Amino acid sequence: MKAFTLDHAANADDALLLLEQGAKAIAGGTNLVDLMKLQIAVPERIVSIRRTGLEEIAADGTGLRIGALVTNADCAADARVRKDWPLLAKAILAGASPQLRNRATTGGNLCQRTRCGYFYDTTQACNKREPGSGCSARDGFNRIHAVLGTSDACIATYPGDMAVALLALDALVLTRGPLGPRQIPVAAFHRMPGDDPARDNVLERGELITAVRLPAPTGGVQLYRKVRDRASYAFALISVAVDVAMEDGRITRCALAFGSLGTVPWRDKAVEAVLVGEKPSPGLFAKAAEVLLKDAIGFGDNDFKIPLAARALAATLSEATRNAKA
Ligand SMILES: Cc1cc2nc3c(=O)[nH]c(=O)nc-3n(C[C@H](O)[C@H](O)[C@H](O)COP(=O)(O)OP(=O)(O)OC[C@H]3O[C@@H](n4cnc5c(N)ncnc54)[C@H](O)[C@@H]3O)c2cc1C
Ligand code: SF4
Repeated sequence: MKAFTLDHAANADDALLLLEQGAKAIAGGTNLVDLMKLQIAVPERIVSIRRTGLEEIAADGTGLRIGALVTNADCAADARVRKDWPLLAKAILAGASPQLRNRATTGGNLCQRTRCGYFYDTTQACNKREPGSGCSARDGFNRIHAVLGTSDACIATYPGDMAVALLALDALVLTRGPLGPRQIPVAAFHRMPGDDPARDNVLERGELITAVRLPAPTGGVQLYRKVRDRASYAFALISVAVDVAMEDGRITRCALAFGSLGTVPWRDKAVEAVLVGEKPSPGLFAKAAEVLLKDAIGFGDNDFKIPLAARALAATLSEATRNAKA
């Protein structure tokens, strides 16, 4: 690990000052410290934001505001989250391990970096780690990689779970920065790689996530299905978040988001439009999968993700619509 200086910000204003001067924020450290040990991240100056007072969960009108420093464990255990936004609690609990969730934070989770093996191997070409060096995954071992939203420059997934639930729930990321406060829809927070894969999200230099805001509860049936190699402590091969409502046997509302399928948490409203107004059936779910995957491209080892996504979507919708009818 390279030498660095560490400051502890006493509040968000302190943190913003140091960030503007080029310091890198550290929250739980569960991703950043690993990257520093491998010298993939080599910040000279770090500001710990753990004492900035951003660890509150509070009602915000009809919604809920989750501070950026709220740990994943505390968020998933919050009685309001469990009752009114259960999708979020389920997605968080499907991620990492209890020890990691005790440390990992809301802001840090949103900013976690890819799990592409070549990104972590500094002997390999990787445009995300070293712009212009190439992408070893396209013709390499790409079993965990994306089939949607890829580019010639990068095919890595955003690997997290929490953001997938937040996307289906229409949450906002609240930030402060040199340009003032911003409210960024989760749908616009992560960046597809295009020809600049080094930037994972739209945060500007010096910008700090202060909270995530959940809108009013939908009252729908909410499920998170995570398909992975092991039943716990593994990143998703595919995940599906759904929030569905039904009336008289027909789907009246359906929000769907997918993890580890695309280069960013993936939502396609055309898929939801196929489902709304219809009676659930295997044929309908297959039609929805067709729309979802019409532009999907496999790179060899990850070809299996395309049929897997269709099956995961059908299984999740089948369970959710059955529960919504009950
Ligand atoms: C073995 C292992 C398994 C895991 N499995 C899963 C899994 O299955 N699902 C899953 O979703 N995640 C998983 N994770 C990832 C884990 O959830 C993340 O490492 C964690 O959420 C990051 O949060 P943190 O607070 O520790 O972030 P840090 O490591 O402190 O920071 C990560 C990044 O976020 C930035 N950052 C942090 N807070 C802010 C802020 N408020 N504003 C602006 N930037 C900020 C930092 O500068 C840094 O770039 C796993 C991690 C490990 C090590
Ligand atoms: S997929 Fe992206 S992260 Fe992986 S090697 Fe290619 S450029 Fe790097």
